[in-house]
Amino acid sequence: MLTIELFPAKFGDAILLTYGPPGKESHVLVDAGLKGVGKTVAKRLAQRGVFIDLFVVTHVDIDHIGGAVSLLNTPSFTDRLGAVWFNGFKHLDQFSDLLGPIDGERLTSRLVELDVPWNVGWPWNDGSAADHVGGPVVARTKPVKMPLPGTASALLLSPTPQKLANLLPEWEKVVKAAGLELGVTGRHEPKPAPEPGNDMLGGPTLKELAAADTDDDTAPANGSSIAFVFEVKDGGRRKRVLLGGDAHPQVLVDGLRQVAKNGAKYAVDACKLPHHGSRANVTTALVQLLDCPQWLVSTNGSQFSHPNAEALARCVVHGSPGATLVFNYESTIVQQFLADHPPHASGYTAVLPAAGEEGIVVTL
Ligand SMILES: [Zn+2]
Repeated sequence: MLTIELFPAKFGDAILLTYGPPGKESHVLVDAGLKGVGKTVAKRLAQRGVFIDLFVVTHVDIDHIGGAVSLLNTPSFTDRLGAVWFNGFKHLDQFSDLLGPIDGERLTSRLVELDVPWNVGWPWNDGSAADHVGGPVVARTKPVKMPLPGTASALLLSPTPQKLANLLPEWEKVVKAAGLELGVTGRHEPKPAPEPGNDMLGGPTLKELAAADTDDDTAPANGSSIAFVFEVKDGGRRKRVLLGGDAHPQVLVDGLRQVAKNGAKYAVDACKLPHHGSRANVTTALVQLLDCPQWLVSTNGSQFSHPNAEALARCVVHGSPGATLVFNYESTIVQQFLADHPPHASGYTAVLPAAGEEGIVVTL
């Protein structure tokens, strides 16, 4: 009924949702990872003849948008693309009087060239809803429900108008860093992750890790991330996945509190941890709000050494008992966590790619 494929997107995200009756499936693609990842994703989709009903580009960081430009320049992909959600400069500009840099980055240019339906259904501030280019994908005062193809919907939790406005002064810097400005070829190769410590004897317990006092993410680009609850209904059955993007934790918490009934937990069948399982985004408050049996982690651990042990510990200690941690890479960071806190003895289950493989598919 619903599968979630976490493509091997290096330290980024490229996530394919497939749902609906056999032979009539709909597909939503969320992000396209780093630059080289776009080609891999395009190839896999073309091999399967997949039509992407909606391509969501959550935000302008290189590990989400880097592959999007090459995808949108690949005819096998664009010929089979229904619509795009992406907040470009003109969408951010809706929430600020600041005079920002020109809207000259590649993704926007390409979307205009392709004339693909863009943010359709989302209103502009003046209430207008143009046919072909809609307003910002934003949760103005509360989570917004938007229909998706088939019997699905998206409940948008992030970004808020303030988080979009916060990115505006940083826009030029961020799009340059992501290699999106015309003539700019992209950021340097990621630094290798630091070697995890070998001697963890007497290291912190899961409870201690979960309780660690860590700062929340304040990066403006992450705060601008689209994050939503994907929901699909089939007869009496309902499946929900929280796709956390790189969203700020308090925005997700505030949104979920508004939709959780009478202070109860909000039930999802899986949650793609925000910001690749960073301790700055996976907070105890967020984990405690969710009734969630599966936590999904998308990263190979390079560049930012994600996921953080504190984040995984919070899922195990404060999440639903006996939950499963699903990883799309068996990185040294993941191996170290599993060695320090063996799954069954520590009250959780781990799911990893098959030996020698990268990427994973979760069926709900
Ligand atoms: Zn990211």
